[in-house]
Amino acid sequence: MRLAIVGAGAAGLVMAREARRAGLEPVVFEAQEDVGGTWIHRRATESDPLGLDPDERLHGSMYDGLRTNLPVDLMAFRDTPFEATSRFVGHAEVLAYLAQCADTWGVRDAIRFGATMTGVELAGDGFRVRWDDGAPHMAEVEAVAIANGHYHVPHVPALGGEATFTAPRSHSHNYRRPEPWRGQRVAVLGAMSSGTDIALELAEVASAVHVCAREHGALVPSPHPRLHPEPAIAQLGPGRRLTLTDGRHLEVDHLLYCTGYRYHLPFVPATLLEVERRLVGPLYRDLIAVRAPTLAVLGLPFAVVPFPLFEAQAAYFAATLTQRVPLPSRAAMAAAVERQREALVHAEVPRRHWLRYGERQFAYVDQLRREVGLPPLPPGYEALYRATSAAKRADPRGYRDDARWRPPPLPTDAVSGAGPGR
Ligand code: FAD
Repeated sequence: MRLAIVGAGAAGLVMAREARRAGLEPVVFEAQEDVGGTWIHRRATESDPLGLDPDERLHGSMYDGLRTNLPVDLMAFRDTPFEATSRFVGHAEVLAYLAQCADTWGVRDAIRFGATMTGVELAGDGFRVRWDDGAPHMAEVEAVAIANGHYHVPHVPALGGEATFTAPRSHSHNYRRPEPWRGQRVAVLGAMSSGTDIALELAEVASAVHVCAREHGALVPSPHPRLHPEPAIAQLGPGRRLTLTDGRHLEVDHLLYCTGYRYHLPFVPATLLEVERRLVGPLYRDLIAVRAPTLAVLGLPFAVVPFPLFEAQAAYFAATLTQRVPLPSRAAMAAAVERQREALVHAEVPRRHWLRYGERQFAYVDQLRREVGLPPLPPGYEALYRATSAAKRADPRGYRDDARWRPPPLPTDAVSGAGPGR
């Protein structure tokens, strides 16, 4: 069975590995010239600082000084150790790890580089896929795994008053280093992972950094004298003024949106998948398309440990394609999706957080692993995740220091079933 995989980032690579192990024929379409996806750091930025121009899509969102916010033993694929110089590493070491995975798994020969997937449509029992590598192409395949990443199309919320606001604005997608803001008054909108890290970098050079957010997590109390946690922004302008939700005003020289990204699947028709900013569906187990179960979208859940989650999803999807693990009927999958939605509504989870897994990730990954015959996540996995979150909240500037990391590194799984048919 031929499986087209979109993307050779972490998710696409492990999907190719699992497909081969299951005896499938993967062909990976990768728009860039190498493996690694979002971990390919680029000094270049888009000419549109907010990143809204659809004709200009730079995949990378990595800033120069980025260090992982998870320890590498937690981040690693479960059966491929991540040998690193420190427990929290820069982006180059993650890229090197992914390149090493591609080599040791022997999947590079399945990848077509410089090939952008442009269309996936139903054709008989399979799909017609279209791609462009300088010339348009088309082929028919039996299955599709989409692993195109979701940290490259910025979300820029409308705040009101944009037309009257005269200070420059940009999105973290186009942030690389703090120097351009030396001596400036910067407002950072959002205090999630990127907002926190970037605000701390900016505080070293800017005259003031106002972090405007509904929730501040790690930034209260302020970990830096020039960093000021503020409430959310109510209105922009006029001029360089911002009005906060508590009625106060700020004058700033720049507004940096650290407001995250949107799911973006421009090559899939809405008849197959409905795509919202933070939601894609209907997908059984947030993975398999209910309307065409030989199509899957990997890596949608966020606030997770990504690589082991991708690995479990890939193993499960491959096992369903070979029917080693049978899927429920489409009606039963649709009903399961509906039940999950009802439970989220009942629990008053906002729609934009339906794929925000957090604590849900462990049971999810373990269930997928169990169904394909893999051992559960190792003892200490959840505890290390929680310890990392707690350490970050307690000390957002220093939590990555190796000296404070007492828990022993997590063991990797014994390599199981390197050949087809695991
Ligand atoms: P990506 O890595 O984005 O790969 C998708 C690939 O698909 C890309 O190579 C892209 O070129 C290709 N592609 C897209 N569209 C097409 C198309 N139409 N045709 C062909 N190819 C296409 N995770 C951690 O575990 N720890 C961290 O510390 C961490 N920090 C992060 C910091 C930042 C700033 C960002 C943006 C992310 C961070 N992440 C972190 C999350 C990271 O996104 C995941 O770890 C993971 O790398 C995502 O892998 P992916 O394969 O889903 O997507």
